[in-house]
Amino acid sequence: MSLVIAVVPVTAFAQNCTIVMCKKTLEAVIIDPGGDINRIIEQLDSMGAKPTKILLTHAHIDHAGGTAALAKQLSLPIIGPHKDDDFWIQALPQQSAMFGFPAVEKFTPTQWLNDGDKVQVGDVELDVIHCPGHTPGHVVFYNKENQFAQVGDVIFNGSIGRTDFPKGNHQQLLESIREKLFPLGDNVEFVCGHGPNSTFGNERLHNPFVSDHRG
Ligand SMILES: [Zn+2]
Ligand SMILES: [Zn+2]
Repeated sequence: MSLVIAVVPVTAFAQNCTIVMCKKTLEAVIIDPGGDINRIIEQLDSMGAKPTKILLTHAHIDHAGGTAALAKQLSLPIIGPHKDDDFWIQALPQQSAMFGFPAVEKFTPTQWLNDGDKVQVGDVELDVIHCPGHTPGHVVFYNKENQFAQVGDVIFNGSIGRTDFPKGNHQQLLESIREKLFPLGDNVEFVCGHGPNSTFGNERLHNPFVSDHRG
């Protein structure tokens, strides 16, 4: 492994904010700082990490709610998600009120992401995979060498993302999982937005929504 991965569950939704650090340079990215930013900063400090950017899989409040505050506090650029999630960023104040979260600020990402983009973490590169369905602008971060992915709310250990939100699309979500994620290989281990890690191989065998045995 050339990466060190640490998960900090944040917000009332226990969302898996994920720190991905290059072992050699100690440069790190923070994926989905939904809130509780002091705990994220404590984790970064305990790892000796040098944070360089914030990455977003999608703009639901539990994933993106702490973004503006953390970006300001650590002077970090905000990378992602895909532009099609802009309406969710604009709706962050309403999302916050609806779920009883602390007040959050909207923000404008420094850079939107597209399928096939690369994001540098020290000496390591993450591939960007656009996986719409849960939200239209959802992206996944993947590193082949480490057989690692951060899949946000696309797929979970034993479940898949909800699609009953505005612009959610169940068929599109199934295609994202089967045609874009599963081909990465059975051995790829993923951190998901909520709950324990799994591998694509395990989900192909056991996930009731997308396993190979279904249909
Ligand atoms: Zn979500
Ligand atoms: Zn979530």
